[in-house]
Amino acid sequence: MTAPHPLADELAGVRVTVAGLGVSGVPAARALHALGAVVTVVNSGDDERARAEAEELRELGVTVRLGDGDTLPEGTALVVTAPGWKPTSPLFAAAEAAGVEVWGDVELAWRLRGADGRKPAPWLAVTGTNGKTTTVQMLASILRAAGLRTAAVGNIGVSVLDAVLGKEEYDVLAVELSSYQLHWAPSVRPHSAVVLNLAPDHLDWHGSMAAYAADKGRIYEGNQVACVYNTADPATEALVREADVEEGARAIGFTLGSPAPSQFGVVDGILLDRAFVEGRQKNAQELAEVSDVQPPAPHNIANALAAAALARAFGVEPAAVRDGLRAFRPDAHRIALVETVDEVAYVDDSKATNTHAAEASLAAYESIVWIAGGLAKGATFDELVARSAPRLRGVVLIGADRALIREALARHAPEVPVTDLERTDTGAMSAAVEAARKLSRPGDTVLLAPACASMDMFTNYGERGEAFAEAVRALAPESAGHDK
Ligand code: ADP
Repeated sequence: MTAPHPLADELAGVRVTVAGLGVSGVPAARALHALGAVVTVVNSGDDERARAEAEELRELGVTVRLGDGDTLPEGTALVVTAPGWKPTSPLFAAAEAAGVEVWGDVELAWRLRGADGRKPAPWLAVTGTNGKTTTVQMLASILRAAGLRTAAVGNIGVSVLDAVLGKEEYDVLAVELSSYQLHWAPSVRPHSAVVLNLAPDHLDWHGSMAAYAADKGRIYEGNQVACVYNTADPATEALVREADVEEGARAIGFTLGSPAPSQFGVVDGILLDRAFVEGRQKNAQELAEVSDVQPPAPHNIANALAAAALARAFGVEPAAVRDGLRAFRPDAHRIALVETVDEVAYVDDSKATNTHAAEASLAAYESIVWIAGGLAKGATFDELVARSAPRLRGVVLIGADRALIREALARHAPEVPVTDLERTDTGAMSAAVEAARKLSRPGDTVLLAPACASMDMFTNYGERGEAFAEAVRALAPESAGHDK
């Protein structure tokens, strides 16, 4: 038998509405049902997948209402929502009018920590516009190298709820939190946390940049040891200043330059900790070399510093930071070298789906033929193009919103040759790679970093990256078999 838990006791017999099925709604509905709540799931969609998920839940005794996500079921005492639901959804207006609280799945997970009588694992939390998944995976790799039982969870495959309620025991969790999840998670209090960077994204959901930043900033609330921020992005430091933290929690910066006291940084290719060391006014602790980090692009070194800062805040030894970083390999389509053909490197960063990510990617190479374009999602390209112009050997444009990038190029980089591909059929990526090859010279990098979403031409960024890699391999038939 498990020990009683105040929330578990409170939920018994309570009418809870779960907003949305899917990766967070289904586990939430299951968990609430298991705790004795009377659960109704509402889901606006009524497609095949929704029906299959609904069937599964109905077998347990959960009520599922498909095709109407707007009406609040009679007698609801609590709403638990999937993170993607917009705050302006009618369901939440109805909840507010009825004085009913709304929690996200992360909030529910936080409140259910220890529900089974086990000591809850502290959370090391990561958010930011770009680099979350990479940083959380680096962090988990470091924690593992330190011999700790851990997992990378959150907005990254394994839901936090599953990690909190599952059988596996953890010493600490590396938690990726999206701005949506933070919006719906008012009482989460991480051990330590980082906001990696802040650039406009998802503004249609949050309503404004200020609201987006405020939701990201929630990650620092109640931090016990370290609020880690990016010295190159003052907005992240401002969020630390505004946060209400535990007594003794410190602001810890990370920088690609030489670290000041209470910072992590880089000197002569060495990653240094000048925060969690004796006598930080004078001393710094060596953690790893830049070449231990894959790929060693500047933004990725920043991710590594952030992960190291969280791990060190948790008490991890320097050697484990180095071993964990060495063991880490990035997920596919994140600055992956596909092949070098005729002394030109072809790199797949299809995951660079916004301008901020693409800018980081472009900053990693000296001379680039850039393949860009797709769905702009309301973005503008002037800043990105103006800052990256000196590195551009040429540009190949694809996709629906390519005119926006072409116009920015005409304004800020009129001398850079541009091939504008009107094709959007499946063979378009081969044509783009062929055009890029023509523009390139030995020593260059052909970089797919589209700065746009992929759904105009592909199912997702993964398929876009695969199409690129396939086209590149077709350029080099003689080397294609070497790895087999
Ligand atoms: P997220 O989980 O936040 O989407 P990922 O780690 O999956 O982030 O990386 C997404 C893309 O963002 C990468 O392909 C890369 O182009 C870019 N990126 C990664 N880290 C950073 C960073 N620290 N700053 C800017 N861009 C980054």
